[in-house]
Amino acid sequence: MNENCIFCKIINGDIPCAMIYQDEETFAFLDINPINDGHTLIIPKHHHENIFSTPSDIFAKMAITAQKIAKRQKEILGADGINIGMNNEPDAGQVVFHAHIHVMPRFKNDGYDLWKGKTYKEGEIEKIQNKLKF
Ligand code: AMP
Ligand code: ZN
Repeated sequence: MNENCIFCKIINGDIPCAMIYQDEETFAFLDINPINDGHTLIIPKHHHENIFSTPSDIFAKMAITAQKIAKRQKEILGADGINIGMNNEPDAGQVVFHAHIHVMPRFKNDGYDLWKGKTYKEGEIEKIQNKLKF
């Protein structure tokens, strides 16, 4: 429990939320400002700031819960598709610093667009590949 964390307060029951699922390690509740009805946040029950500091086994459990919620959104809400997202660090848009995965139901003609991809200049993709590959 991090005293200054709004999501820790939610798990602790100090702040209300619309919870839809929980298990030993994870907790899922409706985002208060949804992109569409049913937009859900999956969080670990213990405080971890983001993807970098979340233990892998806990992140794996968050992913399993995210899949459960995605299937539920499709089945119950009739979502035509699902986007999964996670903002890590302020420059990537993270505002709440308790790791969370967004599971967002999408509907035909709901007006949202995906990011537009750039193109690599000649030879650049190989350079990046060489830097990143394990
Ligand atoms: P981000 O850190 O950018 O992934 O965004 C945090 C998300 O948490 C936003 O989509 C907010 O709408 C959502 N959020 C913030 N406070 C609450 C709350 N009390 N209950 C539900 N969702 C919240
Ligand atoms: Zn927290």
